[in-house]
Amino acid sequence: MNLLIMGRPGAGKGTQAEYIKEYYKVLHISTGDMFRKAIADGTKLGLEAKSYMDKGALVPDSVTIGVVRERLSCADVKEQGFLLDGFPRTLEQAEALTEILKDNNLKLDAVLDVNVDVDVITKRMVGRRVCKECKKTYNIVFDKSIKDKCPSCGGDLYQRTDDNEETVVNRLNVYEKQTAPVLNYYAKQNILKTVNGDQSVDKVFSDIKSVLGE
Ligand code: ADP
Ligand code: AMP
Repeated sequence: MNLLIMGRPGAGKGTQAEYIKEYYKVLHISTGDMFRKAIADGTKLGLEAKSYMDKGALVPDSVTIGVVRERLSCADVKEQGFLLDGFPRTLEQAEALTEILKDNNLKLDAVLDVNVDVDVITKRMVGRRVCKECKKTYNIVFDKSIKDKCPSCGGDLYQRTDDNEETVVNRLNVYEKQTAPVLNYYAKQNILKTVNGDQSVDKVFSDIKSVLGE
């Protein structure tokens, strides 16, 4: 199965991706995670990506498309299937993805749109904490038991530098202008499946299973 997961920043894509990859045994490929790893590793790509990410802007298409092309051309993608998270974010990226899939003899089965209103998003994002080790995501606003260690693996939790209110506003504006039109690109292909993301994590996942087929 080859899937995309879309939705506003903070809609719960990464959270649902953890469940989807376990259940459907697909690779979780997140461009945001790839850029954050490049930053942590101090690579040239990381240095370039950081300057855009810190402002809540998109990393240029020319850079991002290259990163995704390289990853989707690896043998494990064809063997296992994938869930792409955070890409495409522009129409140019969507068109490039169509080409990349064609070149690698791959086909998209479905595009999930996790829909959450803007007013819910800010609270989710400023409360987000991520595990440095296993990358699992938590929320200190909604779950008061979360402190500074990951309940799953014991790793240190951190707040993403782009999860402050000012950057979140920029990221939401970028989403409306540049990413929302991509949904229409997939609606026209009849593969867009919208789920209500403003429900419990378990209920969102159960709706995802319903639209994908168990
Ligand atoms: P995205 O990957 O779309 O940016 P995340 O999965 O990181 O979003 O979720 C953003 C924040 O919202 C995290 O703190 C996460 O724990 C929380 N969250 C995710 N899904 C839900 C949900 N269904 N209800 C409440 N909070 C959620
Ligand atoms: P995310 O983890 O998906 O919220 O992405 C964090 C940040 O990484 C975004 O705000 C962008 O700066 C950058 N980024 C991730 N994916 C892309 C993409 N497909 N195109 C451009 N920038 C991206």
